[in-house]
Amino acid sequence: MPRKLFRFLDWTLTPDREPDAPPIQHLYRCLGEDEDGKPCGAEGPVHEDFATAQKWPFEHIKEQQEHRSYAHVAVVPWLAVPKEEPS
Ligand SMILES: [Zn+2]
Repeated sequence: MPRKLFRFLDWTLTPDREPDAPPIQHLYRCLGEDEDGKPCGAEGPVHEDFATAQKWPFEHIKEQQEHRSYAHVAVVPWLAVPKEEPS
């Protein structure tokens, strides 16, 4: 198997704000526990629109009124950018 030669480069991570970047996605996950102490873990649907994603906890709490703690999970595209392009 041929070996590849890698140069050591300085890399930085930056949020991908390019026009063709994938959209940011949001969902909410229930952090409540069932009566036996088991984590609920229910998740709402993934939405690109933050306000739409925020509707799910209100749907979930109709069924589980003790589940009042939630995590907002966001998928945010980032880019790894070299200080200079490898030659
Ligand atoms: Zn729940």
